[in-house]
Amino acid sequence: MQMNEPLSNYNLPDGEGHYGPYGGVFVAETLMHALEDLRKNYHTLRQDKAFMEEFSSELKNYVGRPSPIYYAKRLSEEIGGAQIWLKREDLNHTGAHKINNTMGQALLARHMGKTRIIAETGAGQHGVASATVAARYGMDCVVYMGSEDIKRQATNVYRMKLLGAKVVPVESGSRTLKDALNEAMRDWVTNVSDTFYIIGTVAGPHPYPMMVRDFNSVVGEEIKKQMPEQIGRHPDAIVACVGGGSNAMGVFYPYIENQDVELIGVEAGGSGIETGKHAATLCAGRPGVLHGNRTYLIQDSNGQIVETHSISAGLDYPGVGPEHSWLKDNGRAEYVSVTDQEALDAFHKLTRVEGIIPALETAHAIAHAIKIAPSHQKNKVILVNLSGRGDKDMDTVAKVSGIKL
Ligand SMILES: *Cc1c(COP(=O)(O)O)cnc(C)c1O
Repeated sequence: MQMNEPLSNYNLPDGEGHYGPYGGVFVAETLMHALEDLRKNYHTLRQDKAFMEEFSSELKNYVGRPSPIYYAKRLSEEIGGAQIWLKREDLNHTGAHKINNTMGQALLARHMGKTRIIAETGAGQHGVASATVAARYGMDCVVYMGSEDIKRQATNVYRMKLLGAKVVPVESGSRTLKDALNEAMRDWVTNVSDTFYIIGTVAGPHPYPMMVRDFNSVVGEEIKKQMPEQIGRHPDAIVACVGGGSNAMGVFYPYIENQDVELIGVEAGGSGIETGKHAATLCAGRPGVLHGNRTYLIQDSNGQIVETHSISAGLDYPGVGPEHSWLKDNGRAEYVSVTDQEALDAFHKLTRVEGIIPALETAHAIAHAIKIAPSHQKNKVILVNLSGRGDKDMDTVAKVSGIKL
């Protein structure tokens, strides 16, 4: 493999959904037809002017795009060194980047004549974003959620129900996100004639990782216009947190060919990688197959998926999008990890110094920017993708701070 060769004229995935040795389609025969149908429809519609205009118009009028970029001047001056800029995905309707993707997939579903939406969810954020667009388009919505997660995320469960979705508890395995994903796949096989499965991150079998990346790349495309307008050039580094990797892929993808822009993904280091209690898939995992694609996974020596841990539910996933695996191996992006404690400190810092309460997922990216800024000059610009707001994390933060609400 020539390290940099695939990156000029970057045009991945290939026709079978491969990003180097990663990605692909590892599913039961019964799903092949549905995936092929989805791939063909998406291939046609992404080149359809009317469809793309409808998507843009929805992003503008319903989601509230474009989201601003913002120079975090007080934070930058307090930390010293490089300038830290923020892309404000927290200002989107429903409070995070996830709606970019659910909006795109729901429109695709409508164009394919599907009337029923299904989704998997862990913390409930993707479930809420899916239920939101289903309400917007008057579609039925069923969300699969591990019963363990249902207990932990009562507010989001109620929110989905308010939006008209049915939340189905999943009792298999560890009763968390990965089990919910398996259950949603099962539903899809059975009901494929009227049902569209909205996957919540850049994972799953082809074409999902590509499709979710494309729908989220509106974020990076906006930055590519906004940064030159504000500072006359591109940022020196882009930092984003990585759970499954959809917010990171959305900002990395438009910059892959700009080799002078550093791309840094920040994973959940939990209690520290050495403790085994973390969700830092690219930093500490190795390749395997899960949820229909080949990618880095957190697994034991027998290839069994290991329970992950992170203070932020949205990063608590034992896999990662296959394109990130490829960007790691070929060196175009760098992946690091940040512990629960470092993320919490960054959460409080941004809140107090800028008046912006970030999601705990996002706080990982902030923490890494705070770490690296001091070793750069003031003319260096680090752009952090502020993937979401922290309102949903009040209970968690209060609890670890020993405060009873
Ligand atoms: C879900 C979520 C994430 C993690 O998902 P990715 O697919 O890695 O982006 C990050 N930030 C926020 C605010 C989220 O809700």
